Amino acid sequence: MTSKTFDPSRRHLFRQGAVIAGGAVLGGLMLRTDASAQAGTVTKATAKYQDKPQGTQKCAGCALFVPGKSSSANGKCKIVAGSISPDGWCMYFSPKS
Ligand code: SF4
Repeated sequence: MTSKTFDPSRRHLFRQGAVIAGGAVLGGLMLRTDASAQAGTVTKATAKYQDKPQGTQKCAGCALFVPGKSSSANGKCKIVAGSISPDGWCMYFSPKS
């Protein structure tokens, strides 16, 4: 085989490589999207966030709360940005069902 001809098996390998590379890039984007989906963007001021419960309502009982490393550690919120206390509260409180 001369160097000017293209071996179909090499073309096949090239296509497979392109598909694998594309999948890796797409997978990376999806992971990034998942990570950012866990962090809210609304400011604490806008959400009227407070570091204490509002009556019996608190972040630990909210469906939007993403717990920290322990039950007492701060976590994150799917709506509100920043570190969120499990004992906190905001106007977007949504009780776990
Ligand atoms: S009460 Fe507000 S800040 Fe707390 S987890 Fe729910 S939505 Fe987020």
